[in-house]
Amino acid sequence: MTNLDFKTSADIVIVGAGLHGAALAYHLARAGAKNIVVLEKRHIAAGPTAKSGAMIRPLFSDATYIRLVLEATAMFEQWDDIVGGDAGFVKNGFFRITDSLDTDRLGGDLDLMRQLGVPFELIANADLARIAPACVFEGNESGVLLGDGGFADAIKTTETLVAAARRLGVRFIEDALVTGIETSGGRVQAVTTATGRIATGLVVNCAGAWGDRVAAMVGVTLPIEIHRVPTALYRKPQSMRVAGPIVSDGVNQVYLRDAGESYFRAARFGWVADRVDPDTYDETIGRDHHDEVRRLVERRVPEMRRTPSVGGFSAIYDMTPDGHPIIGRIGDVDGFWCDCGWSGNGFASAPASGRHLATRILGGTSEVDLSAFAWPRPVDSVSRPDVNWVLR
Ligand SMILES: Cc1cc2nc3c(=O)[nH]c(=O)nc-3n(C[C@H](O)[C@H](O)[C@H](O)COP(=O)(O)OP(=O)(O)OC[C@H]3O[C@@H](n4cnc5c(N)ncnc54)[C@H](O)[C@@H]3O)c2cc1C
Repeated sequence: MTNLDFKTSADIVIVGAGLHGAALAYHLARAGAKNIVVLEKRHIAAGPTAKSGAMIRPLFSDATYIRLVLEATAMFEQWDDIVGGDAGFVKNGFFRITDSLDTDRLGGDLDLMRQLGVPFELIANADLARIAPACVFEGNESGVLLGDGGFADAIKTTETLVAAARRLGVRFIEDALVTGIETSGGRVQAVTTATGRIATGLVVNCAGAWGDRVAAMVGVTLPIEIHRVPTALYRKPQSMRVAGPIVSDGVNQVYLRDAGESYFRAARFGWVADRVDPDTYDETIGRDHHDEVRRLVERRVPEMRRTPSVGGFSAIYDMTPDGHPIIGRIGDVDGFWCDCGWSGNGFASAPASGRHLATRILGGTSEVDLSAFAWPRPVDSVSRPDVNWVLR
């Protein structure tokens, strides 16, 4: 019947081994769940996870994200003790440059962050150059430095979660495209792949950019649109080879992040309205996008004129109408859950959101309430956030 090397029944099947599938599997197993199978159509971290900026900072105007990122940061800081192995976490700080501390313009609610215990420092105009000596500033600009912010290695993060989940008994099956979900009597009965079938009463859709396709297998329509987003890579100028914080320039809407000792990666804030198919999109970066990112970066860091670009790549965001993920039991079929549609914003939260979702799946009450991410929710299912949405 099957040539898949896995059991033909499972208590829980997770579709997708990106960061969210891996984090959820790990937390479910840690909480004592047994007989979990993760089906991945390609390989571990094959999707947008692999190209993530992987920046971690609790600069938000919403308490849920702040709580999740604080919890995840604490995990990243002790990854080897908690998960095991190295997630490549670099705590070099996250420095938002701004011309206004207004919540919308800044992309974070400083009062709320204070209340929730986020450590940050307001940087007055005269001190900006102390934090980022290579940058130039206007007289009306100030900054917010999140000293605990940083970035991780998205692939290592996923791989170490997978390894930990495997040690706890989770089976990860690669090259296993889920092609259908069988239901009867209003319940999930099985998951089918091209080469086999697994009987199960519980499926979690962690298919990210393919999340709408998996939901359609149980008759649920999710308004996830896939848009292509470019990232540029530059050799570091000689004078900038000393590690510094991530420069997140809210005025020019561009960020500059270390990518190893010799390179920077840079991208615009927000998203680009460029709808594509997640299986066939052009993964290169176009000249126009490259030039635009370069122009924005050079405006802030003149020294960047003295360095060659070394290309770049395009990735995809799984955009929902309001830019928030879709999490929870979704639709009318019992046993169908979702954790997808993170809209280009799901790296930093994942190690924590997986724990809270696992608690809910196992029948408990999670400490962080994820119910705001239920679907449907009161939002126009056609609109998307403004393309200049403060995302980084
Ligand atoms: C360029 C870029 C920069 C980013 N920067 C940041 C950042 O700095 N900070 C931040 O917090 N977030 C960031 N993000 C967002 C974050 O990386 C994503 O939200 C997160 O990685 C999504 O993970 P996922 O597991 O939900 O989805 P995915 O990575 O899309 O994984 C889904 C997996 O499901 C598999 N799959 C799909 N369909 C099937 C099927 N039918 N059967 C079996 N398997 C299937 C896919 O192959 C894939 O491996 C960024 C994203 C991008 C693209």
